[in-house]
Amino acid sequence: MPRGIMPRRPARTGRQDRVARAIPPVKAAERQKNTAHGNSRGSSARRAEPAPKGRKETTARATQGYNPLAPERVAEILKRLDQLYPDVTCALTHASAWELLVATILSAQSTDVNVNRVTPELFRKYPTVEAFAALTPEQLEPDVRSTGFFRNKSKSVVGAAKKIVSDFGGQVPDDMEKLLTLPGVARKTANVVLGSWFRKAEGVVVDTHVQRISRRLELTPESDPQKIEQDLMRVIPRDKWILFAHQIIWHGRKLCIARKPKCADCPLENLCHAADKTWSTVEMHKGAKG
Ligand code: SF4
Repeated sequence: MPRGIMPRRPARTGRQDRVARAIPPVKAAERQKNTAHGNSRGSSARRAEPAPKGRKETTARATQGYNPLAPERVAEILKRLDQLYPDVTCALTHASAWELLVATILSAQSTDVNVNRVTPELFRKYPTVEAFAALTPEQLEPDVRSTGFFRNKSKSVVGAAKKIVSDFGGQVPDDMEKLLTLPGVARKTANVVLGSWFRKAEGVVVDTHVQRISRRLELTPESDPQKIEQDLMRVIPRDKWILFAHQIIWHGRKLCIARKPKCADCPLENLCHAADKTWSTVEMHKGAKG
């Protein structure tokens, strides 16, 4: 973005309501780019006039009927995600359910890129679940140190390997209840393995991106991952659970970034009322979350 052109904070007064009611999001993004290049045709977002007297009241009335969970709104969000991220999959490199399980455990508080740097050598050194089960956590620690929280992660990986060997015949179970008995495996990890490897939609993966963006898009008001997952399972059709999580994770990496979302470039912009948007063509309502 050129220097001196700051994105607008969304106005809670509804002043921007007049700017681009129902403008297609791409055009809205173009409009801001034009503005950034000094093209006066695109500058109305910056020239928003003060709200006339009584406008606030009108705005409040206009938003009264707004339902963020309206089926047509949710369907439109899913449609645009499909257009944006048609073929996205899990970014963790893996060649088996076991490798995916290990990579997912290692990805906690780390990045997929970081984990993908570690796992090829790790799986070359210990090629089977039995090889991991024969280790002590202390032996594994140096190999996973760079992913952070390495002591806990080593304990989880070795503990999971031992249990898989002793209780499940060396095979990662394709069942939520059984997966949850493995050390270090909670619903997020279990959902990743079930969805991405076994293609079973038992729930929705709720990682940090899904947590943040589901709230921004008002698909949930919750902050607890388990409650968010329950809300998403209610509002998203089951056949979309696996893809939706991948799409939102990619959206969180590319556009809907935690600190400074690129709202002017976001095709979901005119459906989004997030309180921490960096640019908006829609009026905000009081319940907007960030
Ligand atoms: S408009 Fe902004 S806050 Fe909303 S989904 Fe897009 S990038 Fe995220």
